Amino acid sequence: MTIPVLMPTYSRCEVEPVEGDGAYLIGKDGKRYLDFASGIAVNCLGHSHPHLIKTIQDQAAKLMHTSNLYSVPGQWELAQRLVDLTFADTVFFTNSGVEAFECAAKTALAYQHVTGNTDRSRIITFNNAFHGRSIAAISATGSEKLRVPFEPLPDWSDHAPFNDLDAVKALISDKTAGIMVEPIQGEGGILPATQEFLQGLRDLCDEHHLMLIFDEVQCGVARTGTLFAYEQYGVTPDIMAIAKGIGGGFPLGACLASEKAAVGMTVGTHGSTYGGNPLGMAAGQAVLDVVAEPDFLEQVREKGERLRQALEQFIPNHDDLFESVRGRGLMLGVRMTEASRPFVNFARQYGILLVAAGDNVVRVLPPLNIEEEHIRECVEKLSTVANAYREAKKTGDVPA
Ligand SMILES: *Cc1c(COP(=O)(O)O)cnc(C)c1O
Repeated sequence: MTIPVLMPTYSRCEVEPVEGDGAYLIGKDGKRYLDFASGIAVNCLGHSHPHLIKTIQDQAAKLMHTSNLYSVPGQWELAQRLVDLTFADTVFFTNSGVEAFECAAKTALAYQHVTGNTDRSRIITFNNAFHGRSIAAISATGSEKLRVPFEPLPDWSDHAPFNDLDAVKALISDKTAGIMVEPIQGEGGILPATQEFLQGLRDLCDEHHLMLIFDEVQCGVARTGTLFAYEQYGVTPDIMAIAKGIGGGFPLGACLASEKAAVGMTVGTHGSTYGGNPLGMAAGQAVLDVVAEPDFLEQVREKGERLRQALEQFIPNHDDLFESVRGRGLMLGVRMTEASRPFVNFARQYGILLVAAGDNVVRVLPPLNIEEEHIRECVEKLSTVANAYREAKKTGDVPA
């Protein structure tokens, strides 16, 4: 046998974290890493947050799993809270982002079906979008690298360039059921939708009787400085997928919908064994206890602004490698003049964790409760890494 016992779908790096401490991950060898990846925008409260730990521990001692055949502790309360905090009237809980995406897509299709538009069965999605790894989700992305080698995939979506309203208009037909978009593309390279684009999608959906679906799996849950990114645009979806940050590290996602949009999601149309389990509900409550507070959100905006400024000041000293900063709040991307993955890999040796994204972008996704000192440490480390990287490139010492 040459295949590893762990199916080799990831090229795992050398970091072996065994413990977390606030904004730091601690490796097996005791080495500390400044974690500005946050498990890819998941650990919004950092690691080992006392309130999150205690809430999960208390719930684990009481009840971990029952079934959606029964009324599950915490589901009504967390759903009510999400409804109170958003455009939504109703919530379906999942364990992950891709499951939230699936429920969101099903909700849109079912809406068209039960309102008499049975031909409306296609969703418009975007190039470089990311909605997860299920068959439906990879077929709903224009991104080739996710699709190969699984083709031919189900043909249920039409792909437009992101931020190109005319291209969307041209794709709308009497088969279109809805439009699914990340208000800020994450994997695609921290690319915010323009105001005109998101508003334009809303107008098109209203005009053509389509469902507007936002995938806020990455940009949602306070990451951008408002509880959800759509608030900053003043554009409201009919359906929204969330996950990542909402569990703070516990696997939790949700599909939120307006009453109108959810008209087709009746008894028997959807389900999940683990979705909405008591532990997930406890985690979601603990996260919202912290991040939904107006003061906390304001601090995310302030810290985001300070981090952005610090990164913008860093660039002129390293403009051979870096060109611009983009994003909102603490969902930031630094665009490189070359591929970003080798830099992200190199940076780990210097004790800082970042994430590569599309379009040559280094994603900077710290925990939302970082302090000024972490911002300073991040930029100091980045300068050290950039200098060493430049030298290493000269001597050919950069691992791919
Ligand atoms: C991560 C992500 C997903 C998929 O979430 P999983 O929990 O990995 O299934 C979907 N949409 C967006 C925008 C994401 O960033």
